[in-house]
Amino acid sequence: MNTVINESTIELVRGDITNERVDAIVNAANSGLRGGGGVDGAIHRAGGGEIMAECRKIGGCPPGQAVITTAGGLAASKVIHTVGPVWRGGSSGEPETLANAYRNSLALAMENGLASVAFPSISTGVYGYPIDKAARVALGTVIDFLKEHTEISLVRFVLFSDADLHAYETVLGELIQTEQE
Ligand code: ADP
Repeated sequence: MNTVINESTIELVRGDITNERVDAIVNAANSGLRGGGGVDGAIHRAGGGEIMAECRKIGGCPPGQAVITTAGGLAASKVIHTVGPVWRGGSSGEPETLANAYRNSLALAMENGLASVAFPSISTGVYGYPIDKAARVALGTVIDFLKEHTEISLVRFVLFSDADLHAYETVLGELIQTEQE
């Protein structure tokens, strides 16, 4: 599913983000930037030790912030590491932190002249954020960002399961509908 905001495209696809040939893929990292399971582990395994070496030098990244490293052996040019919130029921600032993670990742891409960015579904794995709620924050934040900044030409969400892709498609359909009313 695709949609256009100003001159930029938002794409929803099912896939493995480590195969993405874009300017930057985003990693759902932890605040110690130490690697781990899920998409984080997959990116470090596929990209090689250079990524971890740069992460060690950077040292850490608080929730909602983003940092950038080489993409090592991956097809992408750079990896942007961002840290989403751990879900604690929704009233501990989770939506704001998740929105910041998307916004700061896109801002960092822009600062580095990177025009195509692929995101996984941040926080919806080990961090436990409900997928429908996360999709609303993710897509709403990206749409708002692309309305204000034309430098990013493509944002692709790479969802790891059919169920996740379907959840994102439903929310994007609703958000576009609301925009048109
Ligand atoms: P978090 O700790 O932020 O919840 P996870 O990596 O546990 O991060 O999960 C985030 C999302 O990434 C989950 O929906 C998970 O299914 C998905 N995921 C795991 N591996 C990949 C991959 N290789 N490509 C894209 N998405 C992936």
